[in-house]
Amino acid sequence: MGADISPTGGEREIAEDYRRQLQERVNRRLIVPRDIRTAAEAIRGHSLFLAKVYSTTTGQPDVGGALEDLQRELESGSLPSPHDDALFHAIVRHLGRSVEQVCSGWGLPVDKIALGVSSDGVLEAARHAVPTTDASVVSISAGMILFCSHLSKVMALSLPHRMNVGQDRIEISHEVDEVFERLNQNPTLKKDWFEVLGAYAYGDPSVIPHRLVPFPASYTCALFRNAMELFAIAHEYGHHVCRHGRSDEASVGDGHGAQAVAEEFEADRFALAVSRQIDLDPFAASGAGAVLLMKGLEFVRRASEILKTGTDDGLRYDSHPRADERVRRLAELASGLDQKTAAAFMATRQNLSHLLDRIWVGVRPLLLDFHEHGIGPVEFDTGWRPG
Ligand SMILES: [Zn+2]
Repeated sequence: MGADISPTGGEREIAEDYRRQLQERVNRRLIVPRDIRTAAEAIRGHSLFLAKVYSTTTGQPDVGGALEDLQRELESGSLPSPHDDALFHAIVRHLGRSVEQVCSGWGLPVDKIALGVSSDGVLEAARHAVPTTDASVVSISAGMILFCSHLSKVMALSLPHRMNVGQDRIEISHEVDEVFERLNQNPTLKKDWFEVLGAYAYGDPSVIPHRLVPFPASYTCALFRNAMELFAIAHEYGHHVCRHGRSDEASVGDGHGAQAVAEEFEADRFALAVSRQIDLDPFAASGAGAVLLMKGLEFVRRASEILKTGTDDGLRYDSHPRADERVRRLAELASGLDQKTAAAFMATRQNLSHLLDRIWVGVRPLLLDFHEHGIGPVEFDTGWRPG
């Protein structure tokens, strides 16, 4: 990594310009980007509805602070490009700043990254090296942000929550048997899993019905969502910091072979290290959010293959290794953890991974059924097959 003492504004500007060009190439639009004024007015115009969402999801009646925070975050910056959506951009900007603070603290240069959101419905997090410069574009699709939101909701709703005796702590179980007991008592959850994975496999998340997640599951949902988004962004920063190949696509492999696979593991380890440094979100620190993201993306790929071809047996893994292997390799990053914490984090990741595999075993036959019968209502059996 050569030392660069020139003013960095120039290359970052070039990177911003390149990001705009990439945005202009996107033709599968998910949303019409909202500018800051439109987004701020939308929040003001829906303040009663948002107040209800807030109180349902946090268990707190006081709404003023949180909405004002969002409003401030929205209005504090300008949008670098007319293709940016103000709300999505505010989310990503906030996370990107946290990642950059950690990197700067480690002496890693991140001042030549143009970070932003593509208003694209596909699931994509990507880092593009900007030609002829040391700069990069890190781009997260709007579809990816929505996916983190949908997946964290259905995951949080699936886990049993208990308030402890003093009512001051929430206990969340991710023991496979306990979770499946809950799933079997709530058959609509199986439909929720099928809907989320199936909708993204079809490429149309707008068909997923809106759901309010009640407290305390809403709290878990927010932690998962934060951990997933953070991991996705930090992974792409990892490719920049480690000066990996010229371009990286998280959704589709390009077939670069062993080198690309090694780079993926390195970016994963970097993302987990950054996540651990940032906040006290246990799902970020343990890698639980990473597991949910990696497995979730793989299930969508498999679901898409099933809907197209009737089988997922021939699924190819090119530059991106299998989720199982990526989850397993997260254990390599145990430095700085005491033995007990490292073991607890590992158990969390393994439980979650096993749990998701079993959920997939339950959802897969529904997808096969869907493929066989074409588009139409699906009869949901309420039991889960053992997996
Ligand atoms: Zn990658």
